[in-house]
Amino acid sequence: MKNPEIPGLDIPVNNIYCIGRNYAQHAKELGNSVPKIPIVFIKPLGTICYSDTTIELPVQSNDVHFEAEIVVAISKEGKSISQGSALNYVAGYGAGIDFTARDIQSISKKQGQPWTIAKGFDNFAPISTFVPSSQIENPNDLDIKLFHNGFVKQHGNSSEMVFPIANLISFLSSIFTLHPGDLIFTGTPEGVGPVESGDKLEVLLNNGATTLTVNIG
Ligand code: ZN
Repeated sequence: MKNPEIPGLDIPVNNIYCIGRNYAQHAKELGNSVPKIPIVFIKPLGTICYSDTTIELPVQSNDVHFEAEIVVAISKEGKSISQGSALNYVAGYGAGIDFTARDIQSISKKQGQPWTIAKGFDNFAPISTFVPSSQIENPNDLDIKLFHNGFVKQHGNSSEMVFPIANLISFLSSIFTLHPGDLIFTGTPEGVGPVESGDKLEVLLNNGATTLTVNIG
């Protein structure tokens, strides 16, 4: 299988890194403390899908939640990248949803097990077309908004992140060699919630600089 392309950028998706609890208000709404260092997990490649996809809910879960997130695409290889140069490694910014089977995740948390299954079902990481970084004035002022059946449920800004984008790139690259096409789901603001069959989700980056639309089958 060939890796799926990142829409808007001419590079295939490589690794899919995700950050947990990167907005203080979202950590609180799930009863979690705000982390001292970034919480990192990975989603498998089969989670990637594009705007206008209809997502089938897995039979193993009765509580699949949306998590709207700003997604960063890496442009070039790097290891031990400084925070000061980190944004030079960004190819572009997009909107994504980190779908999560919350019931499965809750059991995993209680049992001290990884979140891979809760986060890893097919099509659990839809991504919008990406905006090249040259067209983004200030990555520390990126707006993200999610509409659930036409109602705003999540509204965040990268300025509210516990670990800003440059910190995340620097931190990840202190452990993993980053590669072109690596994606970083940068965490979700408060307001996550469950989806049902027939629902429509829309995620807007910067009030529509790019939009992700997903239907629940
Ligand atoms: Zn998430």
